[in-house]
Amino acid sequence: MKFYSTNNKNHKVDLRTAVIEGLAPDNGLYLPERIPVLDQSFIRSLPGLSFKEIGLEVTRTLLAELPEAEIQKLIDHTLQFDAPLVEIEPNVFALELFHGPTLAFKDFGARFLAGLLGYYAKEQDQEITILVATSGDTGSAVANAFLNVPGTRVVVLYPSGKVSVAQEKQFTTLGGNITALEINGTFDDCQRLVKQAFLDADLKKQYFLTSANSINLARLIPQSFYYFRAYSQLNTTNPVVFTVPSGNFGNLTAGLLAQRMGLPIQQFVAATNANDVVPEFLKTEKFMPRSSVQTISNAMDVGNPSNFARMLELFNHDIEALKKCIKGYSFSDTETREAMQQVFNQTGYVLDPHGAVGYLGLKKFMSIQPTYSGIFLETAHPAKFADVVEQTLKTKLEFPDRLQKFMQGEKKSVLVSAEFDAFKELLFGFA
Ligand SMILES: *Cc1c(COP(=O)(O)O)cnc(C)c1O
Repeated sequence: MKFYSTNNKNHKVDLRTAVIEGLAPDNGLYLPERIPVLDQSFIRSLPGLSFKEIGLEVTRTLLAELPEAEIQKLIDHTLQFDAPLVEIEPNVFALELFHGPTLAFKDFGARFLAGLLGYYAKEQDQEITILVATSGDTGSAVANAFLNVPGTRVVVLYPSGKVSVAQEKQFTTLGGNITALEINGTFDDCQRLVKQAFLDADLKKQYFLTSANSINLARLIPQSFYYFRAYSQLNTTNPVVFTVPSGNFGNLTAGLLAQRMGLPIQQFVAATNANDVVPEFLKTEKFMPRSSVQTISNAMDVGNPSNFARMLELFNHDIEALKKCIKGYSFSDTETREAMQQVFNQTGYVLDPHGAVGYLGLKKFMSIQPTYSGIFLETAHPAKFADVVEQTLKTKLEFPDRLQKFMQGEKKSVLVSAEFDAFKELLFGFA
């Protein structure tokens, strides 16, 4: 299988290059040149399959060039925790993606990428430096997935004062091959610095740079596994809608991938907070990126969603088809808090602010289309956003042990301005 750049269909590379480069040299994002369709018998057998069996089959089909033994190792490393489907109201299901080490769905992508980069690092003599911009959860997932992986070093860039304490602790307390840079700016600044670093000739000469952001194809692929896993737990003949609380739209793009591989998903809903560039596009057909604004679902505070290019490609730029497949809604912080309160009071289920945006999107869709079975992605554990959740629900949350351990660690970070030159100088200082 070859992978092409969204900026140039003729620029094709192998899997290793796509994974190590992250971003194509022309600034495009890699996609498989052809999406293989799984056997109908596999889809029918889903209810009896384990998460690992699902992951193995999808990986074998999509990444056929990897040796079977590597695929086994990769899936073993990635899928060490399940993605349970929980019915919180009749026909309304939460797909809980927070049972990994850093309590958010990004653990799946980060672990798969770490496994794959670890495999490729063995084949070369230079250390791989992973640059990752984070609005919160990517940094912790990536840092933890790569901690102590030989031949790799991780530099996390995050916007100062704009991530929760629990998020920050998960990537600033690790030490070892993990460095945290606290950027005096927004998430978009962090993302811009990373993109610029890849285009910088001096840095490229000195470092073997790669990215771990959701632009990396290896992050995306394992995120398709849990759409299959959700379906395998859903016992219904109703049409199925997935609602995806979205920021950079990696998760939603992975859902599209699962659909193209043959999973019968009738509808997607893109649910956002006030950063509603994609819902606006679905209304106006104009893509108008802008600066992000801060909300209580801060991991979705993205003003220029990077996976939009992939979404367009997957529909061959047929905007009508895209609009038919994906509905878009955005919700305010007030609506998000109200949904959290209402669900808690009526069912006892605790939503995190991101999952709550997904829940709202699902309810809105189902108020128009009540015959569907609906799944929303619960993308993080509520304890990761304890300040917001406890204040909103007026109740004390229980912290999972793995989160408590992080909270006791000591924060170590380097504060730096959002100017590229300052950032570059700092990177050279590490050499
Ligand atoms: C990253 C993140 C999102 C947004 O996911 P995208 O793939 O960037 O759209 C949503 N919720 C949580 C908790 C996240 O960490």
